[in-house]
Amino acid sequence: MNIHEYQAKEILRQYGVAVPGGEVAFTADEAEKIAREMGGDVFVVKAQIHAGGRGKGGGVKLAKSPEEVRELADKMLGMNLVTHQTGPEGKEVQKVLIAAGVDIARELYLGIVLDRSTSKLVIMASTEGGVEIEKVAEETPEKIHKEYIEPGFGIQPFQARRIAFKLGLEGKQVRSATKFIMALYKAFVGSDASLAEINPLVVTGDGEVLALDAKMGFDDNALYRQKAIAEMRDVSEEDPLEVKASEFHLNYIKLDGNVGCMVNGAGLAMATMDIIKLAGGMPANFLDVGGGANVETVRNGFEIILSDPNVKAVLVNIFGGIVRCDRVARGIMEAAKSIDLTVPLVVRLEGTNAVEARKLLAESGMNFEVAESLEDAANKVVNLIA
Ligand code: GDP
Ligand code: MN
Repeated sequence: MNIHEYQAKEILRQYGVAVPGGEVAFTADEAEKIAREMGGDVFVVKAQIHAGGRGKGGGVKLAKSPEEVRELADKMLGMNLVTHQTGPEGKEVQKVLIAAGVDIARELYLGIVLDRSTSKLVIMASTEGGVEIEKVAEETPEKIHKEYIEPGFGIQPFQARRIAFKLGLEGKQVRSATKFIMALYKAFVGSDASLAEINPLVVTGDGEVLALDAKMGFDDNALYRQKAIAEMRDVSEEDPLEVKASEFHLNYIKLDGNVGCMVNGAGLAMATMDIIKLAGGMPANFLDVGGGANVETVRNGFEIILSDPNVKAVLVNIFGGIVRCDRVARGIMEAAKSIDLTVPLVVRLEGTNAVEARKLLAESGMNFEVAESLEDAANKVVNLIA
């Protein structure tokens, strides 16, 4: 799960990570009030959407007074912000962060992610802050310093100091950065994060190190013990079909193709997507209906797949291991009757009682194409669209 910058900064503050003052506003009135109460002579108005690149897209603006904060917030709220991460359709700005202006001497990069190949958290730091780290990694990988954390020990102060030195910090800046890095690591572990990215991490004119921007993502499987973080979920930032699928407890990921897929098991779902591509088609989604594949899950699956207007045909691929194919076939028939099936359907059932299942489907008088194999199914569904 991802959260907004203002929420990530709230979490970081709780762990003692240095963050500039700021508060979220939903209206221009609130924005002005926050700036007035905060005081100071420079403010930053920042669009809160789950995407980076806001600066370049016009979602980060400096203001010199609370009145100007109001004007900028008024323009930004309701605006459709397009950045390289939102895609061309952009995202509507529903809230803005009003932050205290910071005197920036240097912009650096600091991130923590799990490195799966070493099974360790890795802290990545670079002097190239404020720009896309993916670009730095590709063009000048030597500019990214990596510090691997031994899970049993956690981060050691010498590692934080080494990062500070690699960033070219000196004197007071080193102390401030060390404290920052130690606290960020604590925040990461304590909140069951899967990603923390501070871009830019800034050094101020008087040598303080602060998080000017903050992006955090969390392990969904840990949200049950992170109630406060779970409540930060903003479903308006997520794909509506994926939100609906999560309510049905279905694993659904929307893709760009036109062949809807309903499969039981994540591995089989991946293989199904591959074979559709091999047959010359493009999958519209990943959908794992789980082991059960009963009438209800099949019906919910159809409902979600068919809500995607790109879907021109559906391939149902169920392997009956725990579940019997004839029961699945009855489930498909019942579900298909109760919904308005507007596109052709190809069904491939294999496993326990597959022969009876195919017979049931073939004799149902309903508009199913029954496939004999996975390859046959993929070719049939692709031909139906062509
Ligand atoms: P992003 O573009 O979505 O990653 O948004 P950021 O929060 O990283 O802001 C983009 C850029 O705006 C930063 O790299 C800074 O150069 C600038 N910026 C953001 N906040 C401030 C601030 O408080 N003061 C100043 N002077 N610049 C800021
Ligand atoms: Mn940023």
